[in-house]
Amino acid sequence: MASAGLSVLDSGSFVLGPNAAELEKEVAELCGSKYGVAVNSGTDALVIGLAAAGVGPGDEVITTPFTFVATTEAIMMLGAKPVYVDIDPSNYNLDPAHIEDSITDKTKALLPVHLYGQCADATVLAEIADRHGLKIVYDGAQAIGSEHRGLGIGAYGDVSTLSFYPTKNLGGCGDGGMALTNSEDIYKLARSLRFHGQGDIGRDSTYAYEHVGYCSRLDEFQAAVLRVKLRHVREWNKRRNWIAERYIDGLKGLPLQLPVSKPENYHIYHQFTVRLEQRDQLAAKLSARGIGSKVFYPSPLHLEYAYTSLGYKRGDFPEAEKAAAQVLSLPMFPELTDEEVQVVIAAVRDSVKELS
Ligand SMILES: *Cc1c(COP(=O)(O)O)cnc(C)c1O
Repeated sequence: MASAGLSVLDSGSFVLGPNAAELEKEVAELCGSKYGVAVNSGTDALVIGLAAAGVGPGDEVITTPFTFVATTEAIMMLGAKPVYVDIDPSNYNLDPAHIEDSITDKTKALLPVHLYGQCADATVLAEIADRHGLKIVYDGAQAIGSEHRGLGIGAYGDVSTLSFYPTKNLGGCGDGGMALTNSEDIYKLARSLRFHGQGDIGRDSTYAYEHVGYCSRLDEFQAAVLRVKLRHVREWNKRRNWIAERYIDGLKGLPLQLPVSKPENYHIYHQFTVRLEQRDQLAAKLSARGIGSKVFYPSPLHLEYAYTSLGYKRGDFPEAEKAAAQVLSLPMFPELTDEEVQVVIAAVRDSVKELS
């Protein structure tokens, strides 16, 4: 990684150079899409991906309230309106059964999230989108390398987005993200938008602007580091699955909801998230035993102060609200040793028994 970084310093090419171009190809291949467009962050990948898919002012985008704030923020940045539907409590993803009730003549797109590293139900979502002529942009920030029916996330929808934030399954040494697509038109528009809307409008495309765009380019240092780490991401995701199996085995029989990996999916366990009513007490007991845990996410977005203008209130999305009050993510990263996994299991078992 250090030598990859140093070679960037020597090359003098610092933004969207050869490493970014190769990374786009390599990540697109891993995720099963034709094209990749490297940008500054996962958030920008959403903004640019949504814009390239045709979402703009006044459009409605159906999405989940139980996700990281960027999913909603990206819709708002475009002057479009997030319309929430509740989640399926078995996998915390958008519940397709609620979508059709929320479609209006302003609905432009669906924005499902592959939360915690497990694919949303892309088969059913595609049927709904087809029936109503909607675009689908998937927020895959937590799901690089995951699969649905044997295909990577980039094979589904009009756009899928990734984040290379350092804590993600493929993380850089700073910010980064990518929009994936199989559409040449979306690809070209996204490439233009990330670079101030620069494009070929019948003259030398340098300093010729076809769109009002963004300044959102991946830097070569991140791209070089990400290319080195990308070679390991499959094996890291496998290790996460191995850890998840040990956790599931070791925590069976406790009054605790464990994650369910649907048979049609390859879950990459960005998070290993359990659920119980006394969530905060469990977190405190784990902390007293030296085990870290975290809540993703403590507040569903329809109750966040910044989004009160959307007009939602408590009770509107009961499954999302319940999940936000009950979920807890246990330590999950490929570097966890076999012994540490056993220590976590023992600590959770002892803590839950003290609570019941
Ligand atoms: C991390 C994340 C993002 C945003 O990615 P950044 O690179 O931090 O901008 C968006 N959506 C989800 C679900 C995420 O987890």
